[in-house]
Amino acid sequence: MLQCPNCKSKDIGKIGSQQFYCWSCFIEMTVMGNKLTVHQVEADGSLSSLNDLFTEDQRKIN
Ligand SMILES: [Zn+2]
Repeated sequence: MLQCPNCKSKDIGKIGSQQFYCWSCFIEMTVMGNKLTVHQVEADGSLSSLNDLFTEDQRKIN
């Protein structure tokens, strides 16, 4: 079960084979191996990376 690295919510929706969406803080997560990459969807639909906000540990999938 995935947990959002940003808000710790487990209210995660699956939007693709490796892609998930947090319904609590509205960020998108992509599973890359055993790590998450985290993106924010901007108002214009583009994605900006939030990976810099988290440590390697926080993005690790347990
Ligand atoms: Zn969240």
